[in-house]
Amino acid sequence: MFNAVSILGDFPILQKKIHNDKRLVYLDNAATSQKPELVIEAMSNYYRQHNANVHRGVHQLGDESTKLFHQSRRRIANFFGAETEEFVVVRNTTEAINQVAYTWGEKQIIAGDMILCTEMEHHSNLVPWQKLAKRKNAQLVFLKVNKFGELELDRLEELLKSGKVKIICLTHVSNALGTVNPIEKIIETTRQLSPKTKVLIDGAQAAPHMPIHFDDLGADFYTLSAHKMLGPMGIGGLFIKLKVLEELEPFLYGGGMINTVSLLETEYADDIEERFSPGTPDVAGLVGWAAACEYLHNIGMEILLKHDQLLVKYAIEQLQKIPQVKLVGITDLQKLSQRVGSVAFVYQGVHAHDVGQILDSEGVAVRSGHHCTMPLHNKFGWPATVRVSFQLYNSTDDIDILVRALQKVEHVFGK
Ligand code: PMP
Repeated sequence: MFNAVSILGDFPILQKKIHNDKRLVYLDNAATSQKPELVIEAMSNYYRQHNANVHRGVHQLGDESTKLFHQSRRRIANFFGAETEEFVVVRNTTEAINQVAYTWGEKQIIAGDMILCTEMEHHSNLVPWQKLAKRKNAQLVFLKVNKFGELELDRLEELLKSGKVKIICLTHVSNALGTVNPIEKIIETTRQLSPKTKVLIDGAQAAPHMPIHFDDLGADFYTLSAHKMLGPMGIGGLFIKLKVLEELEPFLYGGGMINTVSLLETEYADDIEERFSPGTPDVAGLVGWAAACEYLHNIGMEILLKHDQLLVKYAIEQLQKIPQVKLVGITDLQKLSQRVGSVAFVYQGVHAHDVGQILDSEGVAVRSGHHCTMPLHNKFGWPATVRVSFQLYNSTDDIDILVRALQKVEHVFGK
């Protein structure tokens, strides 16, 4: 079994003491994860030893940097089971989804088309589609979420058979509920009933916790952020099936993606990778992200998935013992394979922000709020929830400390 405590020393920030010498118990990983020394060192070493712009210099550093750029791209694509050409580098999941809405969406969506989302989407996988639907006079329709936090698929077939659904945009794992959606089943049904419908999967919360194999999955677009999976902030991936990519216009234009340019016309690079990488890339970011992928690969994503599921189960069991805590999402212990990454709850009678502050005073970092899923929170009447979210360095000890810190909430606010 994986021993989280044995790798704590790999993460410098987790050695930090806060609030009068308390150990930092970092349980806000769905917002962003901490970075191992190896990632920090890979990025710092790039700037110390290899920094130069890529593709342009006829000098040694230019060659070294270009080599690292290509090598890192290859390693990251390989980690996600994708071809390197299918990997468009973006800043984060939000930018990836906006790119699809602006490039593919702008060209393909026409008045009357349906864009199918779900009620559990993060605002980043909702607002770009709202804007596109408004621009194009298209319809935004939703798969519902039931009171257990599961996606209701009963309308899916009927909607697909209507022939109007041009794209399905849904999250692989909900950042608010921890629900793992049955995306394989949804993709298969879509391929059977409406082969031309595109599928975009928001993988921001799945990539940190489970193996992802883009080419096996069969989605047209898969989006994710490095910073939630031990990598740096400011870099992410938009994976696009080659057949779809070949027909796409680039999102950004400029240097580094052209064959020839005259004052009035441009011929774009034949190489797809170049066509979708205008401007100077974030080489250090790619180097750091590739190091994070290697670190995760060496431990094994299957092992980390089991570790995460163990933490989710333990957290649910322990939190359920506190009478004021009302958990949200799937709590049926038989169904816990449908859940990863986080456990959120309402603490009855105390606002989530107050709970978060008291936990912080005990060294426990959690997130309080609507977690960029306002429609979901409004639907169930939760003003805000407290979200506890995990990474490989968390252990059941962290959950015990969280539970003890929650006793202080009762002490301060209890009558
Ligand atoms: N989708 C989901 C499911 C998320 O959890 C997040 C981040 N909380 C995003 C999209 C947006 O990610 P980023 O802020 O890295 O663009």
